[in-house]
Amino acid sequence: MLYLGAALLAPVLGPALYGVLHSRAEAVRVVDGFVYVAVPLLVLWQVAPYTWAEQSLVPPLIVGSGVFLPTIIERASHALESQTDNFVILLSLSGLVLHAFLEGVAFSPGSDALRGPFVAAVTLHRIPVGLVIWWLISPRHGHPSAAAAVASIPIATALGYAVGLEFLGEWQGQGVELYQAFVAGSLIHVVFHQGRHDHRH
Ligand SMILES: [Zn+2]
Ligand SMILES: [Zn+2]
Repeated sequence: MLYLGAALLAPVLGPALYGVLHSRAEAVRVVDGFVYVAVPLLVLWQVAPYTWAEQSLVPPLIVGSGVFLPTIIERASHALESQTDNFVILLSLSGLVLHAFLEGVAFSPGSDALRGPFVAAVTLHRIPVGLVIWWLISPRHGHPSAAAAVASIPIATALGYAVGLEFLGEWQGQGVELYQAFVAGSLIHVVFHQGRHDHRH
């Protein structure tokens, strides 16, 4: 239960960190730089184990299509550009929520994944997850939307914890992994696109 509490709190620390750093002009670049490094690393963390297990190039290729498909749509129609990124943000968020849900399942009683390093890794990487969500959403849609989006992460984890392991069999299909790979790519797209265009300070 202590593990679960830490994992539930961690995403909330992200926006708090953002708030502290972002109010200092010289730290803004640090936050942006951190996000540009953290997101590809988070994607790697998401996709690498599955790619390794399957010994297949399909997951990285799907990540690539998640990065470039929105770019192609934006090139094709300038009018669609702002909506594309909002849609992609929602899509990325759905992936992060699904990911947080599955982590909740892994934290449920009887899970054999509950060892120290795993728990520490899961808890720690949720801090940048919270920060990235806030970084993406609050400049575009304001603090209430960003707070709701961040809150959806611990809610999803608590839900995963509640439904528990019996559920896992149905959810750990190829489709889920490939969907996660695609939305992970789309997260990379929107982070770097926002950085180029409309992340105002
Ligand atoms: Zn875009
Ligand atoms: Zn995670």
